[in-house]
Amino acid sequence: MAQDPVCKMTVDENTAEGKTEYKDKTYFFCSAGCKETFEKEPDKFTEESSGHEHSRS
Ligand SMILES: [Zn+2]
Repeated sequence: MAQDPVCKMTVDENTAEGKTEYKDKTYFFCSAGCKETFEKEPDKFTEESSGHEHSRS
């Protein structure tokens, strides 16, 4: 299984509505809409360090 980077839904690679390759990685999407969203701003969804978590204790 793969995870749709846009909506975080779990998608089956075999039944995914869309897929795209970006920076040598393949991403799967639950719908064509998610694929379009991703392709508009791929960096927004592929940042390795997700978010800005400033964890202070
Ligand atoms: Zn989706």
